[in-house]
Amino acid sequence: MTIETAPRVGSWARPEASLFVHGDWRPAVSDRTSGNINPTVNSDSVGDFTVADTADLEQAVQAARAASSAWAATSPVLRARTLTAIARVIEANVDNFARDLTREEGKTLREAQGEVRRAVQVFDFYAGAGHRLGGHLLPSERPGFRIENRRAPLGVVAAITPWNFPFAIPAWKVAPALISGNAVILKPASQTPMSAVNLVRACEEAGLPPGVLNLVPGAGNELGSAIARHPAIAAISFTGSTEVGRALFQTASAAFKRVQTEMGGHNPMVVLADAALEDAVNIAVEGAFFSTGQKCTATRRIIVEEPLYESFLERFVAATRGLKVGDPMDALTQIGPVISSSQLALDEEAVVRATGQGATVITGGKRLEDGPFGRGWFFEPTILTDVRPEFDIAQKEAFGPIVSVFKVGALDEAIDLANDSDYGLSASICTRDLESAERFIRSSRSGVVAVNAPTAGIEVQAPLHGAKGSGLGPPEQGDEAVEFFSEAKAVYMRFAGLA
Ligand code: NAP
Repeated sequence: MTIETAPRVGSWARPEASLFVHGDWRPAVSDRTSGNINPTVNSDSVGDFTVADTADLEQAVQAARAASSAWAATSPVLRARTLTAIARVIEANVDNFARDLTREEGKTLREAQGEVRRAVQVFDFYAGAGHRLGGHLLPSERPGFRIENRRAPLGVVAAITPWNFPFAIPAWKVAPALISGNAVILKPASQTPMSAVNLVRACEEAGLPPGVLNLVPGAGNELGSAIARHPAIAAISFTGSTEVGRALFQTASAAFKRVQTEMGGHNPMVVLADAALEDAVNIAVEGAFFSTGQKCTATRRIIVEEPLYESFLERFVAATRGLKVGDPMDALTQIGPVISSSQLALDEEAVVRATGQGATVITGGKRLEDGPFGRGWFFEPTILTDVRPEFDIAQKEAFGPIVSVFKVGALDEAIDLANDSDYGLSASICTRDLESAERFIRSSRSGVVAVNAPTAGIEVQAPLHGAKGSGLGPPEQGDEAVEFFSEAKAVYMRFAGLA
């Protein structure tokens, strides 16, 4: 059951054969490949992975179509057994898969292990859902009639996923799609194909029938629009940037597909004067900087009530300066590299632009280049003050370890500032006052709200939905994901001999 990851063995021993169609690992028709660079040590190539194009996508869609009827006809209870088996294979390979994840994405090994374990929970959760997929009965006005409200699979569905959770996000799209009886096309982010390969290998090892899950790694701008337009694909679940998600939503909706998009965020954390100070500081550090701030739910704005502002800022700066940035494979490291040289440049530009508009860098603000840092893409955890709500840094998602701290007079002002964003993914508040917490929950225009906890940190049983520019279409995760990946079917059953 253990899957060797380095050195690689078995049917996909060559990463360049990382296209998976009808149960077969193969290179692209064009034979194109692309390198996968370790963000910690850029000289380390994780491999040259397949770059599929529309010809490969077509084969994958045909394989999925061919497999979909038999999978749809399989009892959900038996589908659940396969999902349970997938969970067990992933569980047996947490360390291998996490090492690969850290090597290609850069989050710390501990965070990567947590992410792979999340995928285990996801498959277990949706295996459980498979046992409850029976629908329910409704009364009829007609004598001798019974109405059954049941769910039916959609056929072939697609998942398009980002690089920042390259194992868990594919898992939380694929698992509900499979348990609902669909065949799936998975298009992972180009920067992190290996984690998707590992997930699919776990599904293969667990006995998922050929064609039910197909992996098509390749360029989003080429494959994405082909997926959005393909007449045989009934639904698309997308996670990524708001810009790409909105364009995809338009194209796919125009092609009459069901679409779910989870997109960017600019998540506020409010700290009221009565908050437990050390707790609030720890929550802020975790929310803003863990996973190098490369989480859609990362805290981008911290809004502190005036009486606590100075002492909060002092302790938050001290805690941030104490963070250990370094090799994510090292157990003592808390903050790893950013994903790419272009992301590093974007982080740098965001800070330069903020200071140009009047912000002050309290700590951090620069790329790290000395010694081993020079071998990868590292950015200092950065705190900004003197940020006005209209500054770019307060409105645009800078996808790195950068956070702005604001001072406000009272809760109402904090709520207004928290909601002053085109995004609405996650928000949190630190307070010991129940009424203040409830007022914040009611007023917050966010799909996720946390009280005395970081903006980041979601669980599979709850729906994940972004309000405003953070999401379009129905939520994912929770029981809602099964609704998305299935459609209603009302059955009117007449028992002719019964009145
Ligand atoms: P991205 O650039 O939007 O890419 C996401 C996925 O879309 C990738 O697989 C990408 O492929 C593909 N893609 C690119 N262009 C496309 C197109 N024209 N049509 C269809 N698909 C296309 O986002 P990212 O940089 O990978 O991820 C970071 C973003 O994701 C951040 O904004 C973050 O907030 C957001 N995010 C949101 C959530 C959430 O739950 N709301 C969770 C995680 C991340 P390529 O890799 O080949 O370009």
